[in-house]
Amino acid sequence: RLKMQFNAFHDSLTGLNNRHSFVTYLQLAIERSGERKKGEIAVLFIDTDGFKEVNDTLGHVQGDNVLRVIAKRLSRASRLVNIAKGLGVSKDRIKLSLNRIGGDEFAIVIEGYNPQKEADLVAMSLIDEMKEAFIVDHQVYHLGISIGVSVFPKDGENVNTLLKRADIAMYKAKADGGNRYQFYDPALEQSAIERHQMEIELRKALEEQQFCLFYQPQFDAQSGELVGSEALIRWKHPERGMVPPGLFISHAEENGLIVRIGEWALEEACRQNKVWQDAGLMPVKVAVNFSTVQFNRMDDIVSMITSKLEKTGLDAIYLDVEITETGIMQSGDVGLDVLHEIKAVGVQLSMDDFGTGYSSLSSLRDMPIDTLKIDKSFVDDINTGANGQAIIKAIMALAKQLGLKVVAEGVEEESQLEFLKQNDCETIQGYLLGRPLPAEELEAVLQQHTYQ
Ligand code: C2E
Ligand code: MG
Ligand code: MG
Repeated sequence: RLKMQFNAFHDSLTGLNNRHSFVTYLQLAIERSGERKKGEIAVLFIDTDGFKEVNDTLGHVQGDNVLRVIAKRLSRASRLVNIAKGLGVSKDRIKLSLNRIGGDEFAIVIEGYNPQKEADLVAMSLIDEMKEAFIVDHQVYHLGISIGVSVFPKDGENVNTLLKRADIAMYKAKADGGNRYQFYDPALEQSAIERHQMEIELRKALEEQQFCLFYQPQFDAQSGELVGSEALIRWKHPERGMVPPGLFISHAEENGLIVRIGEWALEEACRQNKVWQDAGLMPVKVAVNFSTVQFNRMDDIVSMITSKLEKTGLDAIYLDVEITETGIMQSGDVGLDVLHEIKAVGVQLSMDDFGTGYSSLSSLRDMPIDTLKIDKSFVDDINTGANGQAIIKAIMALAKQLGLKVVAEGVEEESQLEFLKQNDCETIQGYLLGRPLPAEELEAVLQQHTYQ
């Protein structure tokens, strides 16, 4: 009898209360609060960041172990004594219940004298507790959590609304980069609807082939020769016209569709480049932008790349994979391994938006990259900003030391071009020499630069 009840309300994996227990508890808490006339309740919805990847790599047995550790840490972080101490009140004034309500989802109910404040404190200590690395099979993993908080009765008067709104807030915390917490705000509701709408539209765009690639030419600084192009995606939206990537890539990253969009862009860029080569035009490289989300979400990005090369017949030496500096830095050791594998296939690697992240000298040295792309903001400063020229010179010296090539992005003025030339920058990309062009128009440029 007792055992059965334990099972009905407990999660056998972690020993925490389960979803059923959580719903029952919250329902009772709401009723209790009604009797007390006042009294708020905070609901914390907790979702693990990156658990899926760990589970996929390590398998379910280790995944379960990780979940047990997470549960332990969350219990430790939500210990009443500590919270009461942190708030300077007696622990009898606070009630807290921690539950595992789904795969890697947990929820906490807090009743107390000031649940907003308590939620603040609990959320912070939960996040703090997760900072310590997880070690599984002698491998180090970092997992974070995203937390959404809703408060009764302000944000909802029943279990469903409270949970839904905590979930919406959680989603926002995740969208902001994860490992943080967010209180529900009605303004989030609108953005949740918009996000959902965007996802539907992006799926449709993929199915109906509304994406296309523009190609921006890149030139050798000294000789003026065309050396390649960068493929830049555009969305030919049936109503909104040509939508630039700045308006949809981050959404696609958030909902994961970037994986499929990125695959499409890679295949299309390789296919087009091969078509040009087969037509007898001068063979040049094509650079394709990759999002870190692709690296994080894809099991085997390297075989995805090789299969696109095989399918289109493009030689690996004509493909240049661009990843932003910040992206590379965030991807850690695993990311570094993948970069080495990509390099081993014969593909070129470029670090995009260089200068906007925080790479250290030593990390740059260990990086298997071929090229630094100096971010446009530094090019802009060549003739305007303080130390603009000194910064470019420093980057050039660094690149030379490390044996890297340099592409200057966003070159718009003759004077910038002159300065870059004088300082041995190899490649120039920018409106001054060529804007991103539809394939047919880049083809014309290629033709001009092809000599029979
Ligand atoms: P990015 O890779 O740094 O690309 C350079 C951006 O600067 C492009 O904007 C390009 O049109 C713009 N640009 C180039 N020269 C000049 C110039 O002289 N002046 C000015 N003002 N702008 C210049 P775009 O095409 O809007 O792309 C923006 C960003 O979107 C790209 O930055 C890249 O991070 C991302 N992106 C584009 N295509 C893809 C894609 O297929 N996949 C992924 N993941 N991201 C992409
Ligand atoms: Mg780029
Ligand atoms: Mg860039």
